[in-house]
Amino acid sequence: MKLFSLTAAVCLLAATAHANHCQQYTEQNDIDECYMKIALDYALLHNPRFPFGALVVDHTQNEISCFGANSNRKNKLLHGETAAFWNCTELYPSPTNDDMSDPGLDWSHQTLYTTGEPCPMCAAQSIYRGVARVVWGTSIPDINRSGRQQLMIRMDDVIASARLGGNRPDHRVPVTQGGVLKDECDHAFWCSFSNFRDQEYHQSMIEEDQQVFIAKRDNDYQCVNVPFRKKL
Ligand SMILES: [Zn+2]
Repeated sequence: MKLFSLTAAVCLLAATAHANHCQQYTEQNDIDECYMKIALDYALLHNPRFPFGALVVDHTQNEISCFGANSNRKNKLLHGETAAFWNCTELYPSPTNDDMSDPGLDWSHQTLYTTGEPCPMCAAQSIYRGVARVVWGTSIPDINRSGRQQLMIRMDDVIASARLGGNRPDHRVPVTQGGVLKDECDHAFWCSFSNFRDQEYHQSMIEEDQQVFIAKRDNDYQCVNVPFRKKL
């Protein structure tokens, strides 16, 4: 199998295809939290040191299309969202070998769930891929304040930069929603990134007047097992 984690993704997909417990919900907020929980559990299972997990869900059918998790041991460019887009494209290839104009999945029916706000690379892929909606848990600023390197460009700013030819507005861009299951996602990143919070991090956070943030996170989020691991 040439694809990163595709076997695991297919197995998990097969396992959940028969019992997608998120289908019991009808309210959008409940559905979003349910799928985000799956994305987080998948991330913690697959790569607990970098718990960036993603799910692509057909929101017209309330069905999971594919999974992705940060796969940086295989290829550091495989962020969770990138892995999910590649897995979906492998699982649903273009029937006419023309992914540009005849993709195997109707991306206007898909929602991307991701534990962390997409970085500019993954935000750009979301636009190019044509996914209709993007939902995340932890924001880019909070991932950074947890100790991890980030490109500090928000997804909404990447989307705002999208233009059709002739500098026309591009309205076929994803709708975004952040902060879904934020507490659980924040908890995972805070514990998983503890090794990045070195002396230089703490010095910079003091200069940024962020001591209260650190104290609150340390108080709120116990890291009994590091990397943090939730039960599936
Ligand atoms: Zn990314």
